[in-house]
Amino acid sequence: MTTFKSGRHFLQIPGPSNVPDRILHAIGRPTIDHRGPEFQKLSEEVLIGSRRIFKTSGPVVVFPTSGTGAWEAALLNTLSPGDKVLMCETGHFATLWYKMARKFGLQVDFVPTDWRHGVDPQIVEDKLKADSGQRIKSVNIVHNETSTGVLSRVAEVRQAIDNAGHPALFMVDTISSLGSTDYRHEEWQVDVTVGCSQKGLMLPPGLGFNAISEKALEASRANTFVRHFWDWNDMLHANENFFYPSTPCTNLLFGLRESIKMLEEEGLDKVFARHARFGEATRRAVRSWGLEILCQESFEYSPVLTAVLMPQGKGADALRKVILDNFDMSLGNGLGKVADKVFRIGHLGDLNDLSLIGTLAGVEMGLELGGVEHTKGGVAAAMDYLSAERGAAKA
Ligand code: PLP
Repeated sequence: MTTFKSGRHFLQIPGPSNVPDRILHAIGRPTIDHRGPEFQKLSEEVLIGSRRIFKTSGPVVVFPTSGTGAWEAALLNTLSPGDKVLMCETGHFATLWYKMARKFGLQVDFVPTDWRHGVDPQIVEDKLKADSGQRIKSVNIVHNETSTGVLSRVAEVRQAIDNAGHPALFMVDTISSLGSTDYRHEEWQVDVTVGCSQKGLMLPPGLGFNAISEKALEASRANTFVRHFWDWNDMLHANENFFYPSTPCTNLLFGLRESIKMLEEEGLDKVFARHARFGEATRRAVRSWGLEILCQESFEYSPVLTAVLMPQGKGADALRKVILDNFDMSLGNGLGKVADKVFRIGHLGDLNDLSLIGTLAGVEMGLELGGVEHTKGGVAAAMDYLSAERGAAKA
């Protein structure tokens, strides 16, 4: 039997993130005719508005899917069976994208890491320079590796591709970075940016995005992978009049319109600065507890989540259970190679200073209750930092 629990559940996994009331209300409207004039207006607003979030003047297509479908669309629209692809094993999600590429018959050079570092632009440059026959057709990376809390340097990887003078396409997964951290599809000359709804956009799962460059569009006219549902050209043809080739997620698009409004009311740069502050406050708490952050380079810290290593002999899942049972808060579990070794604190989306402090208080109390050796004072360290930042902003 379930019993009433007062207060809101703290959903502090690194996505899906908390859906704010404004978006819930926007979604909770009667569904409209997806071939009628009201829908056309909504669709125009979200298709054009999404370009501002991806920072591109080119097309952004929206599929009814989770992020995995948007990955698939990126591969199937640009490459052909047997093509060579360069990918980097930054963590669990990069590995899943790699496995998908392999299933489709792509030949992937999968550069290993220790899951504590991001993509090394120098390795990308060296690999491309060594590819004298220019057989590598694309470089695919994950911007924010959600399993490790490591943020790769997209602009520097772009520079590496240019330094090598290589014509490969550049594809970036921004599934957990879009709307939370600086991202510039056009300026960084990314050919396909993959995104989805349930993280920085503060929406429920269900929308997957591809932002597409002119070069990627050209590739899509000549490549030979068979696709139907994921076909960009069918989608773009229907999008010319702001309609869709099949039934879109009408109500989620109401939510997307509200999400874009909210991000722009706050201002994207302020949204990014807020996430950076939450990341720093969280890391200060973790260090004060005497625990170790999985990400090893300060220039690769994720503003979206922090993965925390458990002390030897202590399981992360047992700690997460203590926290869920006692404080009604969900934290992210360790995935793949770091299963049960790390827990992940999501600090993205609809979050303010006090909800972050509440989150960190839940972790600190959980460490105590779960018998995990730590030093008290992490929450106090985060509070000191957040209040000092407020003071500095006023000065
Ligand atoms: N890529 C990244 C970076 C992710 O964080 C996720 C999911 O969390 C995915 C891809 C897969 O997306 P989905 O689970 O929405 O299909």
